[in-house]
Amino acid sequence: MATDFIREIVEEDLHAGRYSTVVTRFPPEPNGYLHIGHAKSICLNFGIANEYGGHCNLRFDDTNPTKEEAEYAEAIKRDVTWLGFSWGEHLYHASDYFEQLYRWAEDLIRAEKAYVDGLTADEIRAFRGTLTEAGKESPHRNRSVDENLDLFRRMRAGEFPDGTYVLRAKIDMASPNINMRDPVLYRIRHETHHRTGDAWDIYPMYDYAHPLSDAIESITHSLCTLEFEDHRPLYDWLIENVPVPAHPHQYEFARLNLNYTVVSKRKLLRLVEDGHVRGWDDPRMPTIAGLRRRGYTPASIRNFADRVGVAKRENVIDVALLEFSVREDLNQIARRVMAVLEPLRVVIENYPEGETEWFDTPNNPEDPSAGSRSVPFSRVLYIERDDFMEEPPKKFFRLAPGREVRLRSSYFITCTGVSKDAGGNIVELRATYDPATRGGDAPDGRKPKATLHWVSAEHAIDCEVRLYDRLFRSENPEESGDFFADLNPDSLKIIADAKLEPSVRGAAAMMRFQFERVGYFCVDPESTSERLVFNRTATLKDTWAKIAKN
Ligand code: ATP
Ligand code: MG
Repeated sequence: MATDFIREIVEEDLHAGRYSTVVTRFPPEPNGYLHIGHAKSICLNFGIANEYGGHCNLRFDDTNPTKEEAEYAEAIKRDVTWLGFSWGEHLYHASDYFEQLYRWAEDLIRAEKAYVDGLTADEIRAFRGTLTEAGKESPHRNRSVDENLDLFRRMRAGEFPDGTYVLRAKIDMASPNINMRDPVLYRIRHETHHRTGDAWDIYPMYDYAHPLSDAIESITHSLCTLEFEDHRPLYDWLIENVPVPAHPHQYEFARLNLNYTVVSKRKLLRLVEDGHVRGWDDPRMPTIAGLRRRGYTPASIRNFADRVGVAKRENVIDVALLEFSVREDLNQIARRVMAVLEPLRVVIENYPEGETEWFDTPNNPEDPSAGSRSVPFSRVLYIERDDFMEEPPKKFFRLAPGREVRLRSSYFITCTGVSKDAGGNIVELRATYDPATRGGDAPDGRKPKATLHWVSAEHAIDCEVRLYDRLFRSENPEESGDFFADLNPDSLKIIADAKLEPSVRGAAAMMRFQFERVGYFCVDPESTSERLVFNRTATLKDTWAKIAKN
């Protein structure tokens, strides 16, 4: 059963025998890294191909010659693969079709459906008219076929400087749709292309190359975002007026917008170039590379895309839904460990000096097959600083003077004293343990109100932990115009000396953990064998469930 309007169309087409195989494509322009919006498009295009037994092409829309495209193309391939999709042998480039596209442009000239225009870019804009006013025809609109062919060939041969001539479709300057008012098909660009080198001095426009590339690849359903809806008449015009081998159709769906987030390659590039983040894969970035480094799983992103669904109208998705999706997945797969981010020393005064006991504790209560590990207990421990209050308010149930709490999987302890430095800051707690509560249960059945995580000081390993918050402060960072002004100055907090249980020693890059009671964390690739660095993927607090209930 179809679950959205696009799948309905696909099913109906298959049912009616219009196509025997569904062919979709994902057509990124290699001018930046992919972001979460692209992930939605990838999941849709590859998802449909997989579900209906067809295939999805990865096509680099490289009609715009720029410099660093090779790096971006590699990053895009890595990201699509990581998300769990495969283009198989179907990797293409719009630049592969430059010769064919050029020949079809000559065909259009011969059919008197295209002409070379010598108006400047400004003049073309001025002649185009407005939404309420028809455009004006260019004085060059009625050149002869021979003259057009001659000029177009000389454009290709590199005889003219950039901007002197363009090739335009001859459609209708009075069309209510501005895209149909003799749109530009080719422009002169004396630039080196990362794949075709200096072979070309003219490059096709996206609106020309895209439908024809779709036709060359026999795409059946060309899925794009809503802003291309007004371009569809031009898409169809080209498919009808060029002798193409197939007749693809374009369908539009709503792009993904996320609150507190910017999803535009151009803007993300500025964040990188201006040094507001550490790179395209900075864990605060909504790029696929950033989410990966942050600890997101491919499944969590695919589930998110499924939940968002495919709509016909623009909407803004709550970023809490993305966080919910990763928590849901990590809850199933992340190994639990104990880590203390803001350590406070606790000395268990009745525990023998020099002794260590090892307590068995499950790696994942959600998954018994994950097994268990041993954690060491000794006389000096660390607990989380905010798990203690000297003068606790009514609703604070954790450790306080005279109060007993459970330490996860080990013993009950009672706080017996507080040591302070000259400035009055608490530097250490004293406590006693109850040997009868070994393993974390009391024979008399008493139950402390709180269970705390802890780490043995002698056995702890020091790690760096990077805590991330939203990159932007307001729900719609682009609203103000200057989204830089909305950057959250506290989006990264580095803890240099968090204390972790020794079982994490040697953890490989990208390994994911739940630090009990603290959140989900992932080993950063910058980690060395001497020093582990963790990125916080998400806190444990789920705001989505709350929002969804309202
Ligand atoms: P940006 O606006 O970030 O530069 P783009 O659309 O220019 O994105 P492309 O590389 O041309 O980037 O996009 C490749 C495909 O991804 C296109 O089919 C486009 O429609 C789709 N896409 C881009 N952004 C989104 C989004 N926010 N939601 C859904 N699909 C998107
Ligand atoms: Mg684009």
